[in-house]
Amino acid sequence: TGRVCHFKLVLLGDTAVGKSCLVVRFVRDEFFEFQEPTIGAAFLTQSVNLENATVKFEIWDTAGQERYRSLAPMYYRGAAAAIVVYDITNKESFNGAKSWVKELQRRGDPNVVIALAGNKADLHTKRRVEYEEAQKYAEENCILHMETSAKNATNVKDLFREIGEVMYVI
Ligand code: GDP
Ligand code: MG
Repeated sequence: TGRVCHFKLVLLGDTAVGKSCLVVRFVRDEFFEFQEPTIGAAFLTQSVNLENATVKFEIWDTAGQERYRSLAPMYYRGAAAAIVVYDITNKESFNGAKSWVKELQRRGDPNVVIALAGNKADLHTKRRVEYEEAQKYAEENCILHMETSAKNATNVKDLFREIGEVMYVI
């Protein structure tokens, strides 16, 4: 019922943080321990139903490898939303995420909705990035933040729903 809105959404972040797994969980509700590495970018679509509208995401899952980094602007250009992913067990990936956020804020669409996803939340015994630290960073930078697990599906739908709600209001 209601309006159908189409939004381009891009996933960014270091290699192996779980970008492809998050997309596969959201779109197909599946998880693979040995998710095939992404070459360049993959394109998938999925919708979320809000109270008065349907938000249809056109999702670009990029490869975070340094050698493809120069291609990133091609993917985030025109994106209404970006999910920047880090792995809560990998501090370096959190630093990587911060540099992606900075790049998006400098060179992305001025109204781009940015969500920071601390993925692999199921591996909390190996945690290296505290929730509070990431939350504080997100608040200071006016971006959304959620810890997710593509493996056990924690917060994956909620993340996309929250982004959809923010974008629908804009
Ligand atoms: P990408 O390079 O960012 O696209 O990362 P992938 O989606 O290919 O995932 C990299 C590895 O992390 C794979 O072995 C996945 O099975 C694993 N992985 C992804 N998400 C999770 C998660 O939420 N929890 C756990 N435990 N492993 C995950
Ligand atoms: Mg991938």
